[in-house]
Order: sequence, then structure tokens, then C-alpha cells
Amino acid sequence: MHVYEVESYILSVLPKLGVNKLRELARLVYEICKREHCAPQDVLAPTKNLTFESAKKTLLARRYPVNFKTAEKSRFYLPKLELDETLKADLTPRPFYPKTVYIETSAKDSELAARVRAAFPKAEFKETDGKTQVGSPNFSRRTETLLIHNEKYDFLKPCPCSCSAAGCGYNLINLGFGCRFECEYCFLQQYQNLHAVLLPANVDEFLAKIDGAKFNKGPFDRPRIGSGEFTDSLVFDDLTRYSQKIVPFFRARPHLQFEFKTKSVNIGGLLEAGGAENVVASWSVNSSKITNEAEHFTPDLTARLAAACEAAKAGYRLGFHFDPVVIYDGYQQDYARTVQEMADTLPHDKIAWISVGTLRFSRALKKVAESRFPDNFILDGEFLLDFDGKMRYGDGQRLEAYRFLVPLLQKTFPKAHVYLCMEDPQIVRAL
Ligand code: SF4
Repeated sequence: MHVYEVESYILSVLPKLGVNKLRELARLVYEICKREHCAPQDVLAPTKNLTFESAKKTLLARRYPVNFKTAEKSRFYLPKLELDETLKADLTPRPFYPKTVYIETSAKDSELAARVRAAFPKAEFKETDGKTQVGSPNFSRRTETLLIHNEKYDFLKPCPCSCSAAGCGYNLINLGFGCRFECEYCFLQQYQNLHAVLLPANVDEFLAKIDGAKFNKGPFDRPRIGSGEFTDSLVFDDLTRYSQKIVPFFRARPHLQFEFKTKSVNIGGLLEAGGAENVVASWSVNSSKITNEAEHFTPDLTARLAAACEAAKAGYRLGFHFDPVVIYDGYQQDYARTVQEMADTLPHDKIAWISVGTLRFSRALKKVAESRFPDNFILDGEFLLDFDGKMRYGDGQRLEAYRFLVPLLQKTFPKAHVYLCMEDPQIVRAL
């Protein structure tokens, strides 16, 4: 559906609308039509006494049937409808093979640069001083460009979590920026301003910052450090081989624990590095509907769990992240099926932790995601502006999801630490 179709229909039934009022109604009509697979005339009939106020009230009640009566009206976010077809994601399956590889001068003799030259002989290689803008400004073309560099500043930091959310004391090393998967909810599509995949060649320098650093351990027995904030921890590991350095480093430091967080099955490096009790291989898990329809190019749930079993056999502990939990008709049965599949296949005593977090995103992401994935269903839920400025399901819907999933996980995996991710402390207390 095009923006002009929606706007011109609304103006045909309410011809005197100003810009802001048209914006709000267009947003509501579009979202209802998309979710209900119907036309604007099915949503806003040209009745005799139709006004902007009556139209908006009717549309809000239809768009937010669960929250309309209880949520403050300021929490309904109705941004301008701007569907940009040029941003649409290319979902054609393809291997990761960059067309252009930039190598920073300081990293040109690194092991990583040598591996990249061998892996992509047909790519065009360019040396860079690190100041030149690289890649295409279209996020969908980011994997065409690879940049190998030596990180100078951003080595180690506490997880920024979300403003005022209940933190879990996580720590991050940002080994890379960018991913080749296409998850419809991924924050990188709005956040990433480098139009390339960025991989650091100086992993030793990251690790050197860990000794002597002070860590928050939150409610866990030892501090946790992970590398999956701006990329998937293992998606490029066959190329980067970071696991070969990280695993022995942490094996020698049993007072800490390291987490690889992934949706991939790229575990060859982990298996080669041998296991370590304090290294946790973690998978994002979800209902099959989400893995199949909203996490493009990722292995399905069964493949992820098979990789987890292999990692456990090699001596790693396991982590799982039900994140994001998406609420849709029948979601509880689907998530229960995922828990059952985990229960049937995984070694229970190897599971260190399981996090749960319902879908949340920034306001800016909403507009980017709906242009990139116009057929998505994940944005059809009732998202409201929340305590930290992000969009979340209303409190009641989130609590219902957590009250269903958290006890189920605790009962199924009694030895695992089950916790909520990026949640309002009030929700954590109410659980
Ligand atoms: S795997 Fe993670 S980083 Fe990669 S696209 Fe999905 S959400 Fe983004």
C-alpha cells in the first residue's frame, strides 16, 4: 500500500484536515489495513457526521483494542507515514562475499587481513587511513563492504542496557560491528552509521584490557563479559577466529565468564578451541514462526539447538535468550513448543542462564523496519511509548507473557538462572 493511497482516501472523506491531523489518521489507517489485510474504505467509512476527533477515537480503539481504554493517550505513537521503497531489504539468499575490502594501514600485516585476502580473492582490496567513508549508504548493501581495522578506543564497557531498566550487570567487548543476518527487529538497521561490516584485527588488545579491569557481576556468581552487542558473536568466526584467542584467555581466568551470543551454527572455532567451564555458548531462541518469518538467513530453531548440543559436548556451558518474545495470536502455544524442543534435546545440567525480553525498539527503528520489511507482522502488535522512550507492549501484555514463560522455563530448567532483559524494574517486581 502506498502512502498517497491512504492519504488521498482520508482526504476524500475528511477534505479539510491539516497536515498533523492527516498524519495521525494516515498512520492509524495504514497500520489497521496492514494488520487486517483490508482497504482504507473498510476502516474509515464516510459517515455523515465524521470529524477528525471521532475518526481518531474509532481508529485508536481498533488499532489498540487491548490498551485503548487504559493507556494514556500520549503513549500512542503516530509518526508520519513514510514508506521508502528504496530501503526494502534484499532477501535473496546469498553467501557473505564482500565486493570491496578496506584494510586500515595499521592492520595490513595482521593475521585477520591475511585470512580475509585468502577468503575473498575476487574482492577489490583497498588500503585506507581509517578516515575515508566506506560503503554504500543503503543499509541493505552493508555486506558488500568489509573493513578491517585496529580499534583504538572502544574496548570494554558495562552494558548500556536501557535507561532506567533493571540491569543484569553485563559487560561488553565490541568485537565487530554489523551482521549478515536480517532480523526484522534488529536495532542495527537504524543505529549503524558505518555502511560496511567492521571487524577489528587487534583482538589481543581487547583481551589485554580485561586483566585489572573492575567488573559488575550483577546477580551472577562471576562477572559476565560478552561480544554480541553490535554483531552476532559467531557469525563471522570462521573468518575472524576470535574464538581461538578468547577461549584459552578465559579458560585461564576462571573468576570471569565469557559469553558468545549467536543465532548462527558457526561453531567450528569453538569446537576446535576445546571447551571451558566459564565460557558460555548462547543462542537466541524464539518461536518457529519468528525464526522462520522474521529472522531472515538465520538457521532454524532445530539447527541452533543441535549446535548447542555440540558445544555442550565440547565442554561449554550454554545460555539461551528468548529475545525478543513477540506477542501474536497463539504465541504462547508456539513458545511452549520451543521450550519443549529445548527440554527434549538439550543437556539440562549445562544450561547456565536463560533471559527473556519482549520485543522493544526505538521510535526511529519503527519507521526504518516498516520500510525495509513492508510485509512484517511483528509491528502489528500494540506498541506504546514506554518509561525509557522505547516502544513496548503495554504492561499488562508484557506481564502476561512473562508470567507464562518465566515459570515454564524455571520449572523445565530448575538449575538455570532465568532473568528478564531490559525491563522496567516495576515489571520485574510485579512478576
Ligand atoms: S543476529 Fe543479531 S545482530 Fe544479526 S541481524 Fe539479527 S538481531 Fe541483528
